[in-house]
Amino acid sequence: MRFTYESPEELTPLLENCDDPRIKDCKFGSYSKAKFISDLVYFNHGSALGVLQTELVEKSYEILSWLVSHGLEFVPIFERQAYKRQGKFYFWGGLTLAARGEGEGLVMSEKRIASSLGVEFRLKRRVKSLETEGGKLVGIRLDNNQTILSKAVVISCGGFESSSELRAEHLGEEWRDVVVRGTSLNRGDGITMARKLNAAMTGSYDQCHAVCMDSSTPEFSGSRIPHQERKHFRKISYPFGIMINSKGRRFVDEGADFRNYTYAQYGREVLRQPGAFAWQIFDGQVRDLLYDDYRQPGATRISASSLDELVRGFPDVNQRNALETIGQYNSATPDSSSFDPTKKDGLGTLGLTVPKSNWALPLVVPPFEAFRVTCGITFTYGGLSIDSDGRVMRSGGSRIPGLFAAGEVVGGLFQFGYPGGAGLTAGAVFGRTAGANAASFSRG
Ligand SMILES: Cc1cc2nc3c(=O)[nH]c(=O)nc-3n(C[C@H](O)[C@H](O)[C@H](O)COP(=O)(O)OP(=O)(O)OC[C@H]3O[C@@H](n4cnc5c(N)ncnc54)[C@H](O)[C@@H]3O)c2cc1C
Repeated sequence: MRFTYESPEELTPLLENCDDPRIKDCKFGSYSKAKFISDLVYFNHGSALGVLQTELVEKSYEILSWLVSHGLEFVPIFERQAYKRQGKFYFWGGLTLAARGEGEGLVMSEKRIASSLGVEFRLKRRVKSLETEGGKLVGIRLDNNQTILSKAVVISCGGFESSSELRAEHLGEEWRDVVVRGTSLNRGDGITMARKLNAAMTGSYDQCHAVCMDSSTPEFSGSRIPHQERKHFRKISYPFGIMINSKGRRFVDEGADFRNYTYAQYGREVLRQPGAFAWQIFDGQVRDLLYDDYRQPGATRISASSLDELVRGFPDVNQRNALETIGQYNSATPDSSSFDPTKKDGLGTLGLTVPKSNWALPLVVPPFEAFRVTCGITFTYGGLSIDSDGRVMRSGGSRIPGLFAAGEVVGGLFQFGYPGGAGLTAGAVFGRTAGANAASFSRG
């Protein structure tokens, strides 16, 4: 989860339940408010932060503390956000802690904690509509026609990433058949239901979070597949290699920034390529830097002891061009002695039309490996318009009494890109606000 901390000491209270002996060897650095703001401004294409974005930054640390106060446990992300140098773990990319047990651990812990506070869960039912009487919100209706009466409702049922029709309508026809990284159930229901009460839509409906996924990823790679079996799907270590398309050409600056700042945009770039796929190519020098995902059984991998042999293994790529591209790339790489994965090392190619700005090691050390990737959508950016109390707004600026929203159903937080780890933080920050205000509304 992305949150601000001005110094490593601020992490201590968040790690109170973590007894990992490696913590004493951690170089956490800092992730200042100024940096979080500039990250979001960058993804706004320069526009100043909106009210919700400012709130996200301001409350990001506080929300972690609040979750810890309720018994949630956080641990350093050694495997994915740190590299070891001279016995120390250097964290990079503004992302240091995750819930113990990752996503599953987070959900199970939250469920346990919420249950102990008296929260009742009703699963396996689809909410079909918001119920009104005389224009006033009075509850929800389920797919079995049962009605649940309530003065207040918080909509938090995700975006529209799982609906191929809505993807095609808002993101473009080319998104109709992409694979979905999460659940098959986020079909934009919350937006559709609230729209019937004249809720306003906001944000970048034509933008989304989409990453490079293994070509073997099924249509929905979410919760129905056990965690261990889907570990090989994600393929986001491209900063340490290159990506080529079916024409045998590179098409993005793989080293433009830490993967945290590019991975959510590069799925779209892969989708734009002919055939909507790419091959990621690495050499033996970086083998240990690749995420564990690359070593899992099931990955679409080719391995070879020479580049010629590797390229001959591509069934769907212009092989002559591919060898030429790799040759040009290798010739454009500088002396690699200052290579450093823990920072933007400035080791960039010279003179290429598509540059690689950091970590540009030449592909020279066998074994050479290639992984075939496609685009996988994670979530959508457009959604309902809310105010800073979590209340759902109408088009004219008034609020729909009793209706609140949080999480990815909310639009306007991420415009043209996404800094990794901000989704869960946003969900927690605005979920807490919406929940608290829905409770007071119900009591009042
Ligand atoms: C593979 C993957 C990895 C991720 N990793 C990270 C990460 O490391 N850090 C991070 O910050 N974010 C991450 N995210 C994003 C993060 O999971 C989301 O930001 C967050 O889960 C959004 O919360 P939400 O409550 O809005 O939606 P969700 O968590 O998607 O929950 C929505 C729920 O609503 C249910 N639902 C939908 N429609 C209905 C309906 N009509 N009736 C009843 N229920 C309905 C769905 O079944 C679902 O359970 C990841 C996402 C994925 C898919």
